Amino acid sequence: MSRIAYVNGRYLPLRDARVSIEDRGYQFADGVYEVCEVWGGRIVDMPRHTARLERSLRELRIALPMPLAALSVILHELVARNHVHYGLVYLQITRGVARRDHVFPPAGVRPSVVATARSLSLQKNQASAERGIAVATVPENRWPRVDIKTVALLPNVLARQAAREQGAYEAWYVGADGFVTEGSASNAWIVTHSGSVVTRSAERGILAGITRAVLMDVLAALQITLEERPFTVAEACGAAEAFVTAATQLVMPVVTVDGKSIGSGAPGPVTRRLREEFHRFCQFS
Ligand code: PMP
Repeated sequence: MSRIAYVNGRYLPLRDARVSIEDRGYQFADGVYEVCEVWGGRIVDMPRHTARLERSLRELRIALPMPLAALSVILHELVARNHVHYGLVYLQITRGVARRDHVFPPAGVRPSVVATARSLSLQKNQASAERGIAVATVPENRWPRVDIKTVALLPNVLARQAAREQGAYEAWYVGADGFVTEGSASNAWIVTHSGSVVTRSAERGILAGITRAVLMDVLAALQITLEERPFTVAEACGAAEAFVTAATQLVMPVVTVDGKSIGSGAPGPVTRRLREEFHRFCQFS
């Protein structure tokens, strides 16, 4: 069965889905994206994702090319046409197609909208969560505007690849101050020996993850103490548990950082519980 993509107003088989080589996403990484989880054939936390999308677009002064309701129709249509029960929808909006020039294109150039949906293996994801993942640290080398979810992901690509070459699944960026910022495609968390859950504030230096925001609701409901503060690699290595959050990972236990075991070296009880409870606090559409 051929996968179906959406490109600027048309639903096309993936192999026929194309944008111009002069698209500013291709030329300059001049665009933004969102990834939503699909669970039970429904899109998870779409309003939060579209709010972040609008913010990213606003920060880059790219106009929202259609009403949010129309975007929602497209994403749901893709989930249906691709028969996704568990997986993801991906949406990318760039500043559009124009002759290559760094300055913004003339008024009237419409942003490009591309969206895809695909199935993922829930079993594989669950198996990873049962084992826990390895993390390797890399120096933070990204621009300061990582709060904007841009498609300019080269540092993230290199970080993830460096991790993979060390046998780790995810990379954690570590700033010059020694504090962990976030993962290459996830937010970073630890659980202290007193049972508090720690993650960095989203004010600066990280992407305000949607999974992170939902997890804060879970913590409040379960009356688990949240400490919004940075932590060092040494603190993570000495912590009771660690995990990462991202839309397609949910709450994913971290069992080693740079080869050092965290806690018992197996996914911990707090992390497991947060993962189990997570979907109870999501909005499905
Ligand atoms: N940080 C970065 C750099 C990411 O790429 C992602 C995943 N898109 C996240 C955090 C987690 O965000 P979310 O929970 O919205 O998927």
